Amino acid sequence: MSMTRYIFITGGVVSSLGKGIASAALASLLQARGFTVRLRKLDPYLNVDPGTMSPRQHGEVYVTDDGAETDLDLGHYERFTGVSARQSDNITTGRIYSTIIEKERRGDYLGATIQVIPHVTNEIKDFVLSDAGENVDFVLCEIGGTVGDIEGLPFFEAIRQLGQELGSERSCFIHLTLLPYIPAAGEMKTKPTQHSVKELRSIGIQPQVLLCRCDRPIPETEKAKIASFCNVRPSSVIEARDVGHIYDVPAAYHQEGLDDEVLWHFRMEGTPQPDLSRWERIAHTVHNPDGEVCIGLVGKYVDVPDAYKSVSEALVHGGLANNVRVRVQMIDSEAFDDDTAPLDILEGVNGIILPGGFGERGARGKMRAARFARERKIPCFGICYGMQLAVVEAARHLAGIDSATTSEFGPADDPVVGLMSEWTKGNERVTRDQTADMGGTMRLGAYPARLKAGSKVAEIYGSLNISERHRHRYEVNANFIGPLEDNGVIFSGMSPDGKLPEIIELSDHPWFIGVQYHPELKSRPFEPHPLFASFIGAALTQSRLV
Ligand code: GLN
Repeated sequence: MSMTRYIFITGGVVSSLGKGIASAALASLLQARGFTVRLRKLDPYLNVDPGTMSPRQHGEVYVTDDGAETDLDLGHYERFTGVSARQSDNITTGRIYSTIIEKERRGDYLGATIQVIPHVTNEIKDFVLSDAGENVDFVLCEIGGTVGDIEGLPFFEAIRQLGQELGSERSCFIHLTLLPYIPAAGEMKTKPTQHSVKELRSIGIQPQVLLCRCDRPIPETEKAKIASFCNVRPSSVIEARDVGHIYDVPAAYHQEGLDDEVLWHFRMEGTPQPDLSRWERIAHTVHNPDGEVCIGLVGKYVDVPDAYKSVSEALVHGGLANNVRVRVQMIDSEAFDDDTAPLDILEGVNGIILPGGFGERGARGKMRAARFARERKIPCFGICYGMQLAVVEAARHLAGIDSATTSEFGPADDPVVGLMSEWTKGNERVTRDQTADMGGTMRLGAYPARLKAGSKVAEIYGSLNISERHRHRYEVNANFIGPLEDNGVIFSGMSPDGKLPEIIELSDHPWFIGVQYHPELKSRPFEPHPLFASFIGAALTQSRLV
């Protein structure tokens, strides 16, 4: 078994410097040099997981195959490396404390006083070192937040200790900072970086590599100055300049020597140069598309782009599969909640995506958008809540069930979408009763589905058996399959036991598909998800018709 090395990525100066993407890009570079990698995220906030957080806080909740609700950075990790993330790749202060308190109640600590050092730090260290998998050459651990945050301290202390214990041949610290350009002075300023590294060194961590975000080239004199003040070698001051597209990042960081510096640190400088051809191919398509399609994303968090991160990325991938650029127009579903609000903004799009969501606000607007797409024959892709609402819309206006609704809006006579417990007995799946706590009560993670032979989705997937990731409490009620099928709604994917609708498509429509799961979570730039590739293909056809 190979020796696993650990790379810790911390951030300084300000948040939002793209630490997740930087970590993912470095991992992809190491991969391109023939190494195996695993990426982990250590989140200092107190929530047990991000599952209960509003997308306004930290963006979308990313779901892994094994059913963990995690930070969206794990999505970047998967997209850049193709390595599926696991529950054991994301930890929060909340989870650490709940584990410790559970152990304390059981008496596991044999009467000891439980303290941040060593109990909390040990728990963090165990997490970092645990279950990396056989033969992983590099584990990259990104610490959320910025150095100096109060809740981050135990994490910094834990990785400091790990640096000691593993030694420099098995650990490397990378610090991401900002070099702001001050127009009035006509200069790039290094002081925030100096202060940030000083802060890091004051808690005992000497970074070996500085990744400096900037909007223009860093003069050699400034690199030398940073190196000297921050106690790193000048070639370890890496320029991380803004690039046109996130998929340009790996090649750009390689150009600036990031992976070479990391490997130099580990005395592995003889490693062959990376094969970046797949990144070059992607960059070429991103920058030289054969055209453009416009997709309207009708959602509730249009002012928080991170809330739909994986969906937007999967749309980009769908564009890559068709050699086109996808322009995503964010459309506020709440603006259509009022039945008299005009829908003309939807006239100009080539496809409509109805993403996942929760709650009644904006739901009516999504149903109106679904109806518009259905009647005007605009390609439409409903995901999770988007699919559920499209089914309610079809039940109301195609099947004539006026009272059709989802019980997510409240108690219902005709829950076309509802909790399984509302219409079946002996349901062994977890469903929410109104008093249960809200964390972890959903159907989460990968579940298989069977597709109907001859359906559009079977053709798109090229298979009758699929596995996709889920995150929902409510289900389309199988008791309504009959009336819906009689009116052109095809149930083309079901759970293997035949009880839960997984996919619907409309017969009399060029491309109208709704899925109960989140296909966007498995889409990667090298392997665009077939549904997204097909959806963008349909939008492209539509764009040529108008
Ligand atoms: N609110 C719906 C449910 O809980 C859909 C969830 C989602 O879109 N992720 O079933």
